[in-house]
Amino acid sequence: LFVAFEGGEGSGKTSQSRMLAIWLRDQGYDVVQTREPGSTKIGMRLRAILLDAAERGLSARAEALLYAADRAEHVEKVIRPALQRGSVVITDRYVDSSLAYQGAGRSLDPEDVARINAWATGGLVPHLTVLIDTPPEVGLRRLGGAADRIESEPLHFHERVRKEFRALAAADPERYFVVDGTLPMEEITRRIQDHVREILPD
Ligand code: C5P
Ligand code: MG
Repeated sequence: LFVAFEGGEGSGKTSQSRMLAIWLRDQGYDVVQTREPGSTKIGMRLRAILLDAAERGLSARAEALLYAADRAEHVEKVIRPALQRGSVVITDRYVDSSLAYQGAGRSLDPEDVARINAWATGGLVPHLTVLIDTPPEVGLRRLGGAADRIESEPLHFHERVRKEFRALAAADPERYFVVDGTLPMEEITRRIQDHVREILPD
């Protein structure tokens, strides 16, 4: 089982993916919890470049390719081997983050972004994608002052990102589970568990 968490800044993806991993391990599943960018040796270096607040001049295409490169490493070195061992894989961000941030956010052609990512991942698509849908002003407020390169983008950038995530979810309701990110954290956790319970392998 391959589960991805998606959502904007401060939506609580990291906390919720951790809660889901704990809950599944409690039930005896072997779980690999991972994130993008930066879950491999090369990926850590790419993350440093991608999130450096001083790195303002990076072109949109180069950014999209570096995210795709990080993802290619992630799939080949971490995600596929874990799935092959029979583990549940939970990733904090995946391809849809690139469709939202590099596609809608940076105004690249969404089909180009989809194509490079389909190639980078060898076509690996999550069984389930959890979208924690949070208004950007709420998420950014939660994060407080400490902004990285992306977090310091103007509000309308984050609004385009949110809109794209919602459109992706609406276009693929079989794969997506959308949860309201303004709900209390425990309620979000509970709703995700209720949904995952339905699709667990025996
Ligand atoms: O998930 P996390 O917030 O740690 O992601 C780090 C940063 O990378 C975020 O600010 C996010 O907006 C950005 N990002 C991006 N494009 C992606 C994935 C992450 O701009 N494809
Ligand atoms: Mg962040």
